[in-house]
Amino acid sequence: MTKEDEIPDWVGAQEFYDKYEPKEILGRGVSSVVRRCIDKRTSQEYAVKIIDITPSDKTTPEEIEEIREATTKEIDILKKVCGKDNIIQLKDCYESNVFFFLIFDLMKRGELFDYLTEKVTLSEKETRNIMRALLEVVQFLHAQNIVHRDLKPENILLDDLMNIKLTDFGFAVQIGPEQKLKEVCGTPGYLAPEIIECSMDTEHAGYGTAVDIWSSGVIMYTLLAGSPPFWHRKQMLMLRMILAGSYDFSSPEWEDRSDTVKDLITRMLVVDPRQRYTAVDALNHPFFSQYVVHEVRQFSPYRRFKVICMTVLATMRIYCNYRRAKPVTKEVIKSDPYAVKPIRKLIDACAFKIYGHWVKKGQTQNRAALFENTPKAILLSISVEADEPMQHIW
Ligand code: ADP
Ligand code: MG
Repeated sequence: MTKEDEIPDWVGAQEFYDKYEPKEILGRGVSSVVRRCIDKRTSQEYAVKIIDITPSDKTTPEEIEEIREATTKEIDILKKVCGKDNIIQLKDCYESNVFFFLIFDLMKRGELFDYLTEKVTLSEKETRNIMRALLEVVQFLHAQNIVHRDLKPENILLDDLMNIKLTDFGFAVQIGPEQKLKEVCGTPGYLAPEIIECSMDTEHAGYGTAVDIWSSGVIMYTLLAGSPPFWHRKQMLMLRMILAGSYDFSSPEWEDRSDTVKDLITRMLVVDPRQRYTAVDALNHPFFSQYVVHEVRQFSPYRRFKVICMTVLATMRIYCNYRRAKPVTKEVIKSDPYAVKPIRKLIDACAFKIYGHWVKKGQTQNRAALFENTPKAILLSISVEADEPMQHIW
């Protein structure tokens, strides 16, 4: 390209500003800002992801080139997955020498992360709907050998009807059928053990699509428990927990959860990627076939017998639980309020209302600190976080 042929810096940017009016910020990433914007002609609202690659003192020319290449790759993948349900739609994009503008459908309900912060924990039913949609998207991506590599509730958006839309394909890559990856990227709390191993061992064989199943398992656990399975104030210790696959279902939130849901999580959070469930295995798990209501077309003595048995069993269970239940007296509330489920939910909801904005700050999943429920633990977390800046990418 000769000097005269070069596109001037502002051309793509000018085209964007001619067509759209940018509004308030919806979210920020490492090198991007996402704003609401309005199509001047149709008044339709969209979201624009603005990626700034202006040379500055803070960024080297190599880093700028890396961001440019990564963004071009992100656009390529977004075009490949275009039209699939539950994946964000790239509507348009503009490029200048110093900016990229990616126009998406606007997801007014924001991130799944914020929805979870508002609700503290989700029911199995709601988790089932979200996870089914997420795993179907993962299955679709993996069938084309696309690895997302940054699955987390911040990258799952909700539309007006509360359907999920997977976004942020910034780390996504398409690999060959037998190809393995070695690059260490993602968000610490969601990293699969084999990615961490790659950072420690240059001879490591690499990783593949299974890393997305691990992150999906972490998401599923977090939706049900309200806090992540692997978390420690010290990032190094958290990574060690991940490498050992060390997590449990001991928090009170798990008391009422079914064995089926725990079984599925256990099969997704398997340290050895070869033994880990695939997206297809996960979707075939009984957790997703529960409560599928079949239309009753005719009288069936067997079905009637089954309903009677289940009614008797349910009545017995309610009666036994009622007899075992201890009365909630003033003394119980005073001595151990957290042991009483409705009060525990109330305390957690209040903590999230007060500290919800702080959970969001920093890249570390510090949601777990809120569940420690002592002001001292929360303050300690904040101070450790302040000393320990998080790296999104190594
Ligand atoms: P990054 O790669 O910088 O993390 P993302 O694509 O994840 O960028 O966007 C950052 C944040 O912007 C998201 O987590 C979300 O809060 C918000 N956001 C992104 N796309 C949309 C959209 N289409 N509608 C509403 N909010 C969005
Ligand atoms: Mg993101």
